[in-house]
Amino acid sequence: MKNGKVYLVGAGPGDPKLITVYGMECIKKAEVILYDRLINTSLLEYASEDTEFIYCGKEPGKHALIQEHIHQLMIEKSQQGKVVVRLKGGDPCVFGRVGEEAEILAAHDIPYDIVPGITAGIAAPAYAGIPVTHRDHASSFTIVTAHGREDKDQDELNWEALAKGSDTIAFYMGVGNLAHICHKLIDHGKSEETPVAVIQWGTTPDQRTVIADLATIEEAVKRNQITHPAIVLVGEVVRLREKIQWFEKAVML
Ligand code: SAH
Repeated sequence: MKNGKVYLVGAGPGDPKLITVYGMECIKKAEVILYDRLINTSLLEYASEDTEFIYCGKEPGKHALIQEHIHQLMIEKSQQGKVVVRLKGGDPCVFGRVGEEAEILAAHDIPYDIVPGITAGIAAPAYAGIPVTHRDHASSFTIVTAHGREDKDQDELNWEALAKGSDTIAFYMGVGNLAHICHKLIDHGKSEETPVAVIQWGTTPDQRTVIADLATIEEAVKRNQITHPAIVLVGEVVRLREKIQWFEKAVML
């Protein structure tokens, strides 16, 4: 029997053209594809006809159970000698649980590759006309998960360091927690006037961007009914959008 292998692949942030050449090669040779909720499913059309597709979308509150099931499936299918692709949104190493999955595969002596992808925290701003660094405005960039809430004792972020030490901050999973994020940054010394962009469904035809500042963004997001999935981007670079915005007014050539 031939040996199986698992490819832990980043599908990119939404626009199907943003997957890597290597990622696409993996999809084309996959016999099984386990895919996440936020990937663009049009990518699955490149798989061969007899590829088996398994949806791994996570329901809130059922994470642990489903994650375990995903591990089992990856082990089972690859031990049957199959080429398995675990397709994740954005980059698999950025809030993608690739560490846990690779660890399990390593423990079972199952060969695997990790195929990077373009992460939403860089790509959604880029499509909104916001470079996360800029020679004159930002020389540091931090990626943060912001779903921990203080009232549930889950907020372990070093807000002091974030507020004082990072020029640009991309908060993932943060839109539901926006008020908390803004209060914490202001409390720890960021100016209320620091510009903020919230970019929903970045790099897709449904992309929407709302711009305000730390004091006003919560209200602006509510008014515009921006919800998950969205990147909350904080920093002076947000101002560049005014000059270099391109995607939301793009003309197809
Ligand atoms: N591994 C992914 C992130 C997974 S966490 C990556 O590298 O991009 C899921 C979070 O990513 C969402 O809550 C949202 O904050 C962000 N996200 C993913 N796709 C997005 C998109 N198209 N537009 C805006 N935010 C997105």
